[in-house]
Parts: sequence; structure tokens; C-alpha cells
Amino acid sequence: MPLRHSKMTDVFADIIIDISHEKLDHTFQYRIPEQFREKICTGSVVVVPFGKGNRPTKGYVVGISETLKLDAGRIKDISEILTDTESLNGEDRLVTLAAWMRETYGSTMIQALRTVIPVKKKVQKRISRTVSLIVDQEEALDRLNIFRKKHQNARERLMLALLEEGELPYELVIGKLHISTATLKYLEQEQLIHIHTETEYRRAFQVARHPDIRRTLNAEQREAVEGIWQQWKERQKRTALLFGITGSGKTEVYMELIDRTIREGRQAIVLIPEIALTYQTVMRFYRRFGDRISIIHSRLSAGERYDQFVRAAAGEIDIMIGPRSALFTPFPHLGLIVMDEEHESSYQSETMPRYHAREAAIRRAELENASVLLGSATPSLESYSRALSGEYGLYRLTMRAAAQSHLPSVEIVDLREELRKGNRTILSDTLRENLTETLERKQQAMLFLNRRGYAGFLSCRSCGQVITCPHCDVSLSVHRGSRMVCHYCGYEQPRPKSCPNCGSEFLSGFGIGTQQVEDTVKNLFPEAKVLRMDMDTTREKDGHEKILSAFSNHEADILIGTQMIVKGHDFPAVTLVGVLAADLSLHTPDYRAAERTFQLLTQAAGRAGRGELAGKVVIQTYDPEHYAVTTAAVQDYEAFYREEISYRLLGNYPPVRRMLSVHVSCPEEDYLNHAMEYLAAFAARVKEQKQMQEVAIFGPAPESIAKIADQYRMVLYIKAEKKQELSVIKQLLEKYIEINRGFERVNVTYDLHQM
Ligand code: ADP
Ligand code: ZN
Ligand code: ZN
Repeated sequence: MPLRHSKMTDVFADIIIDISHEKLDHTFQYRIPEQFREKICTGSVVVVPFGKGNRPTKGYVVGISETLKLDAGRIKDISEILTDTESLNGEDRLVTLAAWMRETYGSTMIQALRTVIPVKKKVQKRISRTVSLIVDQEEALDRLNIFRKKHQNARERLMLALLEEGELPYELVIGKLHISTATLKYLEQEQLIHIHTETEYRRAFQVARHPDIRRTLNAEQREAVEGIWQQWKERQKRTALLFGITGSGKTEVYMELIDRTIREGRQAIVLIPEIALTYQTVMRFYRRFGDRISIIHSRLSAGERYDQFVRAAAGEIDIMIGPRSALFTPFPHLGLIVMDEEHESSYQSETMPRYHAREAAIRRAELENASVLLGSATPSLESYSRALSGEYGLYRLTMRAAAQSHLPSVEIVDLREELRKGNRTILSDTLRENLTETLERKQQAMLFLNRRGYAGFLSCRSCGQVITCPHCDVSLSVHRGSRMVCHYCGYEQPRPKSCPNCGSEFLSGFGIGTQQVEDTVKNLFPEAKVLRMDMDTTREKDGHEKILSAFSNHEADILIGTQMIVKGHDFPAVTLVGVLAADLSLHTPDYRAAERTFQLLTQAAGRAGRGELAGKVVIQTYDPEHYAVTTAAVQDYEAFYREEISYRLLGNYPPVRRMLSVHVSCPEEDYLNHAMEYLAAFAARVKEQKQMQEVAIFGPAPESIAKIADQYRMVLYIKAEKKQELSVIKQLLEKYIEINRGFERVNVTYDLHQM
């Protein structure tokens, strides 16, 4: 039927409908009514009548054209705009990024769009609030002292921060200083502070900029800055890797390059893993750049997050700091994406689309003609191999930047020797002696255990039965208070009095946990004040920050914890770091186990002697010859890299090969086994037909944890040299799974490594 062109000027939008459970992964065309013409662009979020009942449904505009694809009688009008051209811009590029994510990571378009384009839930007034001190310094100090004596930590913390800064943005006070609204109300009633509210979002406050905070860069830092800047100016390489040991002053390099970017009228995104995004770090940026900064963190509501993005789009800020999701800040002229601690596993998304922020950042930078700066003391094997091959620029910082700071001395202790000597405690003689000395000198120590819980698992001495989770293929962990907990699904039960298998009453715990370390340390050093930081002590809302600030105020002598304590925190009075069992993380069935162990050990060691005091690190291990341990002890990344890359070569693992892993889960074991056999056979046929000699298929095999929350889990690995081959296989697998009834009850996710 010929299209009628009675309305020659009609404009139409291609729209992705925001419904995820239906398999509607394609666009629908709608007419843009006259009055919306100017307000709708690619990336706009709109409401359209959808389906038989014309139900008002949210949709994303992914394209605009003047060609009608339907017959004219069936076209419907867009009924409402949720995000118009004024509040956001640059979404056309974000839509392109979403399309790339859909292709690369195998999600639906709507999942990808929801990830990159923020939507306002409810229209609300945008409020900008600041907290300021309204008494003079003397009175503030007096009150501060009283709070301190009464151990009113939150009040003290806020007063101290305000004494230093005068005025602080409200979201920073709530989000990063972890001050409750009750505390704010109290201090306001006491007429110590004032909360200033503005209904428009222009900021009223000015954090005092401290020009002196701009450090004179040392020679290495200067060289890195100039080299990276030149690389970008000459448009040789988009991505640079800044490989600098802990404390070498990477943040100063970031800030200098951000400064130059801003002076060119462009904006910057700074990605920092949430766990390392401390108040101190954020303040360093505020002090240098003033109020044209915004932060995003997990404590912001969807609406607050959206407001930050609107401010960014409106040109009110130049820098966005935050974890993974800050990558999608809609800046009008994005110039630079900095990714600190680029090796961190939290940059990998756990939900669909399962994107890696490093790859997505580089892709986004290509679309925006921006640059990417990756920073780490222990670069991922992926990034370092790309830097060595010349794909990324490579810059090194080899010395600690602060004048008095030096790398700590490291000692490895063989725990097998300790056993032979008859020492059955968690603390070797060496570590115990070092602790004693540290406490005598009134300095602080950190004890790091790559594991949580009390006594690992519980097993029967008579029949060997291990108490396991009824829903997962893992043992339950014993916790104090005689609870048993599953760390994978949250299942809890009381500690059994006898063996459920044979009835024997001889049940005993194996392995060590942070609680047991705490008990041992308290026994050995009854005078010392001990803090413990793990999943259990940080469950409550402010737990994490409270413990860290207490420790940094020297309210405790020893901090015991899991990996949380080793990331990015700067405690100048810590002179001793003890790693209790370095090899715990070596024996996980993951090709990255050695890399993760090396990273953790290096980071842990990097905590010692950050200030002017010399640091000491004691690494206890049952495996003192393992290269991940020995190279971490001498802080020799390159030696580790050489060793590790040779194993990756042998095993054909990334980054040597690209790898696609297909993770499949299902509540029925037989059904899953069956489906996996078909899947592997299909993959093998594709390989054969397409003559992909280089492609290798491994599995199907049970995942390292074969059941979680009543879901059986299996995996298929496909390795290849070329990205193209894996993409082809993945697309065919997706189609096969979609049309095949035998996959109706399974859940499939894909992970692409090193794409
Ligand atoms: P990284 O991010 O590499 O771990 P930071 O940027 O946090 O290192 O710097 C570590 C410490 O050294 C900080 O206290 C910082 O203020 C200080 N610092 C950095 N650069 C310099 C410099 N050029 N001169 C003096 N101190 C510096
Ligand atoms: Zn038994
Ligand atoms: Zn469980």
C-alpha cells in the first residue's frame, strides 16, 4: 500500500519499549507530535501508548527519521516526555554506547539503555544543600573537645571537618562523612551549624580552595604528565596506563591532567572503586577544584543520582567522581576518563549487561573523542600486556612521593616451620614479636586475613561429614553466637549439637576466621585495643566508615580485617602489616587466582609505613616459594608478570587468548546436564563448519561452586585468538538457545574476557 504523505513534515521516533521480560528487543515507531518536536532527541525518555490497551509505557528514543515504516493508520503519538533535550545531552552517543554493550555483552537493548541513561523516577524540586559552621573557631574547638570526651563520634567528626573547611556540601556530609540527619538536627538546634537550602541547584557554597595543595610534582610525576599529555595531543594513543607503586603520587598526576582537560573546556570522569572512595580522597579533589565536582556513590537514591547527571549535562560541574556507574555521566564535552585501581574486580558489572568498565570507558572515549587514563600499582594482566605491546602508552612511577615515605621491609614466614616448632596459633613468633614492638612504640598494626567468619567450616571427627548449606554447594561457616551461616545465599541455622549423619558429638571447626584472630590477639595482648572489620562488623549502615575513622583517630592499636582493610586507605601511624595466610586466595579454581593474590599482597604491604615512620610487613604462608608470594614480597610487579604470563600462555588463558565463558544455571540438575551437552555439541559444530581451527572448547563443567541458592550451575569455556570468532559463536549460541525448547528452564549469562 502506498504511504500517504498528507503530513509531509511528520517526524517519527524509533523507540525501545521499557519492558524487559517480554522478548521485545527491537524498536517501535511513533509519531512525534508538533509540540514535542524541539524537545525530543535521541536518548530522550518518553511515554507512549503501548499494546492492545494502549497502556502508557516508558520508552527510549534511539533514532529519529522522517520516513514512516508502518502504515499511516497504525502510527500512534508519543504522549509525554520524561527527559527532554534541555535536561540532558550527548545521549545519542550514550545510545550508541548502549548498542555496543548489547552487542559485546549479550544483553537486550533495554537492559543496556537502562544502564547508560538515567531516568528520573518522580518530578521533584531539585535541592542543593550545604552545611556550614556558624560559630567562631574557638567555640567550635571547645564544643569539639566536649564531643570527643563524651565519645560522640559523629558530632566530633562533623565539627572537625567543618573546622577545616568552613562549609561542606550536604551530600558529602551524609554520604561520605556518614553523619545522620538526627546529628545534623541536633547541631543545628545547638546553633553550631546551619543547613543552607537552595531550591535551584546552583551551588551557594565555596569549599575553600587551598592553592598550596597543588604539590610541586616530582621529576617522575612531571615526566608522566608531560608524556601522557603529549600522547593525547598528538592523538597517537587514546589510552595511557600509569603504573605507579602505592604512594607514588598517582592522584597528583590525575589531578594535573584533569586540570589541563578542564582548562580546555572539557569535562572529566574519575572512576574509583567504591571501597576506596573515602572522604579523604574526595576532599583532595574538592580542595583542588572547588565546587565544580560531584560525587556518586551507592548511598544516593536514584533521584539524587539523576540530579547529579542533570547538573553534569547542564554544564554546572566539570568533574564526576564515583564507582563504575559514574562512567555514564552525560557531560556535554567529555575529555577524560580516569580509572583508578584499574585492576579492581568491582569494575566488572554483576548484572546485565555484564560490562567491564575499562572496556566500556575506552569505547565511550572513542565515541566522544576523549582520552582514558588507567592507574594502578598492580595493573591487570590485560592492561599491562596491552601497554607492553604498544596499544596503550605506558608511564611509570617507581618511588614513594611523600618526602619521608619509604617502601616497607618485608619478611616471609613459613607457617610449616611454625608447626614443626610446635606453634599452633595463628600468629608466628616473628609476627608476635613485631606486634609487641609496635605496641610498645605506640604505633598501629593491621592484620589481614583473606577470609571471614569464625572457624571456617564444621565437620564431624567420627565420620568426616561437613555441615553444608542445604541450598548451595558450600560449607556453612561458624559464627560466634553459635550460628552457622551460608555466605552465598544468606541461609542461617543454629550450630548442630551432633553430627546429622552419624550422631557423633565430636564436631569441630577447621580453618581460621577473623573472629578467631581477634580472640587470639586479645588473649595475647590484653592491653591492646582491637578493631575488626569484615562483612559482619560492617553490615550496619555506617559500619565501614565508622571503623576506619576510629582506627585513623588512633582509637585502636590493631585493626583486623578482610580485603576491605587493604584498599586505598592511608593510615600514617600504621607501621606493621601482618598477612596471616597469604596462600588462602591462591587455591581458588580461577585462572586469575595468582593475580588476585599478588594484588592483595602488594596492596596489603603498601599499607605499612605510609607516613614518616618506617614500615614492616610480615607475610605468613604455607607456600613461601610461590611466585605470587615471593614477587609481592619484593614488590616486583614485572617479575610477577613474566611468571604469570607464561602460565597464561601455557593454558591459553586471557590475555594471551580471548575467552568466552557461558554460565548456565537451572534448578534441575539433569535438565541442566542435558542442556549443557547440547550446547557444547552445538559450539563444536559451529567451530567445525566455520573452520575455526584456533578455537578451543572446554567443558561443560560444573562451576567452582556447583550450586547456589538451589540453582545448579555449569560453565562452558570457549577460547579463541580473534574477537570476531567469539562474537560469531556467541551470536549463534544465543540464537540456538532462544529457539530451542531444551533451554526454556535455564538461565544463561555470558562473560567475555579480554575483548
Ligand atoms: P597513590 O595514588 O599513587 O597511592 P597519592 O597520590 O595518594 O599516591 O600520594 C601519596 C602521598 O604522597 C600523598 O600523601 C600525597 O599527598 C603525597 N604526594 C604526592 N605527590 C607528591 C609530591 N610531588 N610531593 C610531595 N608529596 C606528594
Ligand atoms: Zn558424623
Ligand atoms: Zn546457601
